Amino acid sequence: MEEFGFTEAGEKFSFVGREYLLQPYADEHPYQVHKKCTQVGITTKAIFSALFSCINLYPKGVLYLFPTEKDVRDFSRTRVNPIINYNPEISQWVNDADTMGLKQIKKSFLYLRGTKSRSGAKSIPADKLIADELDEMDLFIYEMARKRLSDSTFKHIELLSNPSLPDFAIDKEFQASDQQHYLLKCPHCGQYNDVNETFPDCLVERAKDDVILACFKCRKELDKSNGKWVAKYPSNKDVRGYQYTQLWAKNVTPLEILKEYRKAKAEGKLQNFYNLTLGLAYVSAKDRLTVEQVLSLRDEEFPENFFQIDGNLYMGIDQGKDLHIVFKKRCKGKILTYPVVEVDFKELDKYMKYVTRCVIDALPETRNAKAFAERFAGIVYLNYYNEHQKDSYKWDDERMIVQENRTESMDASHCLINEGDIVLPFSDSAIEYAQHCHNTAKKLYEDEETGSKRYVWVKLGPDHYRHADNYANIAMSEELSDINNHSEDIGEDLNEKFAKEED
Ligand SMILES: [Zn+2]
Repeated sequence: MEEFGFTEAGEKFSFVGREYLLQPYADEHPYQVHKKCTQVGITTKAIFSALFSCINLYPKGVLYLFPTEKDVRDFSRTRVNPIINYNPEISQWVNDADTMGLKQIKKSFLYLRGTKSRSGAKSIPADKLIADELDEMDLFIYEMARKRLSDSTFKHIELLSNPSLPDFAIDKEFQASDQQHYLLKCPHCGQYNDVNETFPDCLVERAKDDVILACFKCRKELDKSNGKWVAKYPSNKDVRGYQYTQLWAKNVTPLEILKEYRKAKAEGKLQNFYNLTLGLAYVSAKDRLTVEQVLSLRDEEFPENFFQIDGNLYMGIDQGKDLHIVFKKRCKGKILTYPVVEVDFKELDKYMKYVTRCVIDALPETRNAKAFAERFAGIVYLNYYNEHQKDSYKWDDERMIVQENRTESMDASHCLINEGDIVLPFSDSAIEYAQHCHNTAKKLYEDEETGSKRYVWVKLGPDHYRHADNYANIAMSEELSDINNHSEDIGEDLNEKFAKEED
């Protein structure tokens, strides 16, 4: 593999100590997913492959996508330009008058773009799309950029990222792949080891500051350079996926990893450790509900005459192919929560004589939602999320709309489920509701440029009921002020409560 020449640090490229890179470097699969820890050399591989394929293969070129414009500036200056300059077999084809975000290479182009400006990636035709740090990108822009491959005969895709949440972005892509794991062969007993799978047991502390990477079978020391890639799902031929961990990386010792792990655990910062050091997705229990957790809130005694019993009825509707609806009613200390699906707006009218207030998302069918709101003026409100609306909900009776901060409202409704304040019936809809609740999770986005941090509830699968639940809570917000504080009597026996209600 001599042709790879020099790295961006000006060092002769070598696979010594990076034997795990041999196969990814040689891999010509058209759709590659690299779920990675930091510092394993995959970005350098992506640059080499982009530059060489511009020279030898692609007529249109490569679109290399990053989360932000700042990433583009840094990457162009510190990674791409040095590799071009250190390697005459590449630089002879590069026009040195090129700008930061565009390099003409022979008759082809390398475009470097961020996802924060909509114009950036939209109009660029390419043969290959490389997305670097997929999990931090504006995924809408990423999808738009993918469409730009449609005119190419190649349509190659390469995705690189530290994972963040399970089932999100790179982790989701990796799950759909053949899932290649690098297994270390024990020099003592011959056992193959996936050390991420046996972590933290794979780290054995023989004495103070003497830590080895150990075989799970014979517990003796493993050799990082003796491994092979094995696909967990070889039949998933359409996508090639690689998973990288620092446990077998050249420049990090088992002692350093153990220390880092203990520190992360003590400080409650396991997310970073799993994402960046082990290259694994991670979510803390407080940021994602489990299906079992939500299903445990079902109660056999959920009243059959839910619509008729005393109390104000609130309704939240999420528009999709169908209308997902969540009804809510206070019943002493708890919130009766009743999920149901209807196929169109006509079906809603039968409920409306019971409804005190309804919130429906204004999108995507604003016209239908608006007509519905006009038919039930004063009861139905269209929801618009507004990131500038903080700490309260803003009701506008004239325009029949309500505005609130998306993250804040999702936090509040998440909290009610997480604390077990709701009660569900035993129904098929409740099972789907639980799945939809599991399909959202809270993700932290950090803006390197400004240092600002923001949390966003992201979608990990179908999540209509979760949003309908949120709209129902918004409709109900005035009745929830006490329950959100968790100051009331939650311990009361439910059966007793329902019995009282029905009297
Ligand atoms: Zn062994």
